[in-house]
Amino acid sequence: MLSWCIGQRRVAQIQRAFQKMKVTILCLFLTLIMIRSMLGAGDFGTPETDFHLLQYSLSAAGHHTHSRRILEDVKDAAETNSNSYESFDIKKIVVDDEPPEKKDPNQAYTLGPKISDWDEQRGNWLKNNPDFPNYVQPNKPRVLLVTGSSPKPCENPVGDHYLLKSIKNKIDYCRIHGIEIFYNLALLDAEMAGFWAKLPLIRKLLLSHPEIEFLWWMDSDAMFTDMVFELPWERYKDYNLVMHGWNEMVYDEKNWIGLNTGSFLLRNNQWSLDLLDTWAPMGPKGKIREEAGKVLTNALKGRPVFEADDQSAMVYILATQKEKWGDKVYLENHYYLHGYWGILVDNYEEYIEKYHPGFGDHRWPLVTHFVGCKPCGKFGDYPVERCLKQMDRAYNFGDNQVLQMYGYSHRSLASRKVVKTRNETSNPLEVKDDLGLLHPPFKAIKVSS
Ligand code: UDP
Ligand code: MN
Repeated sequence: MLSWCIGQRRVAQIQRAFQKMKVTILCLFLTLIMIRSMLGAGDFGTPETDFHLLQYSLSAAGHHTHSRRILEDVKDAAETNSNSYESFDIKKIVVDDEPPEKKDPNQAYTLGPKISDWDEQRGNWLKNNPDFPNYVQPNKPRVLLVTGSSPKPCENPVGDHYLLKSIKNKIDYCRIHGIEIFYNLALLDAEMAGFWAKLPLIRKLLLSHPEIEFLWWMDSDAMFTDMVFELPWERYKDYNLVMHGWNEMVYDEKNWIGLNTGSFLLRNNQWSLDLLDTWAPMGPKGKIREEAGKVLTNALKGRPVFEADDQSAMVYILATQKEKWGDKVYLENHYYLHGYWGILVDNYEEYIEKYHPGFGDHRWPLVTHFVGCKPCGKFGDYPVERCLKQMDRAYNFGDNQVLQMYGYSHRSLASRKVVKTRNETSNPLEVKDDLGLLHPPFKAIKVSS
């Protein structure tokens, strides 16, 4: 009993000693913080040097082991916030740039200096640069796929994750099909923000890459869902613009969804520069775009009231100036150059069951385009959950065709996880993949030396 009492007193003494020590450590820590803030954080060194300094002063006082543990806790707590990516608010470092200078409203908007002899300029360039022909195989033009997104981070960081998935998907298709790719993150002309941003970009790229025969614009919210389908290039040899759409809906009905500008081909020639010049004037942000929106809603079938968009403007141009442009425009609907996601995503399982990649059409769509989903913006036209869930499914559906080359597949269309579909082999070059995309799928022509 007595020994128990003595033991209790000992314990109480030790506890008091610890209490005192804790107070001492707290005082030391507060002193350190004060000195640090007086000197300015930068003068005092890294968190590590602070830590060692504090550790040294405390261990000199003879509390080494215990102090280290407490200090590590303190260090953790102090660093948790500033070192945490999880809790960091990106808005802290995203500075909104100054608004662009107001241009003279009386001066008509142009994409750049007028160019009238591009065919001649480009023709001479190609003649003088035989190492960079405008085709990659006989009957296969050199193509640059162009896509992009806003220079600002997405409103919800998960939007950036979907942009990453979408560009990875495009890189895969382009690698398999020998297509070059350009991702744009710069707003080249502040007046042409949003869906109009593609116009100045497309013009700049056509002029800077005379070796490119076709530029293929593709929205960031569109994904390849058929990795095998090759575009029927031969069909387009006499055309300059290839867009998914229907002649009757554009030319007869003037329907604003008679074509879609989320995925299209534009030939690198004077005709296309002229078309861009005709397309651009409704784009400038503010009053011009607002007023043009009214004109478009008035003229087109089914168009809601909103500012001018590039798609409506294209329908308007083709419907009102058919003689000027119509004979060089191919409105494609034999396969999904663009495919509206709403009518495709619920059928992926059926496609897998009944068909195989390579059709590009209603049996296996080339492109699934998430029109109206806006995963990078504030608000979309559809429930976010359906959009993101279906974007994952579309991505995995396309990715399965890539993974099969390497002997893997997603566990299901809803799953990030992959499973092995083939056993490893010691003769990897003899492996045949189901889709014939391996070793190597694309053969480029030899260029003259
Ligand atoms: N875009 C861009 N910069 C921007 C905003 C949009 O390059 O600042 C591109 C992006 O590729 C996007 C496309 O413009 O996919 C068209 O917009 P969106 O897909 O949101 O329109 P929707 O297809 O829903 O009509
Ligand atoms: Mn889109």
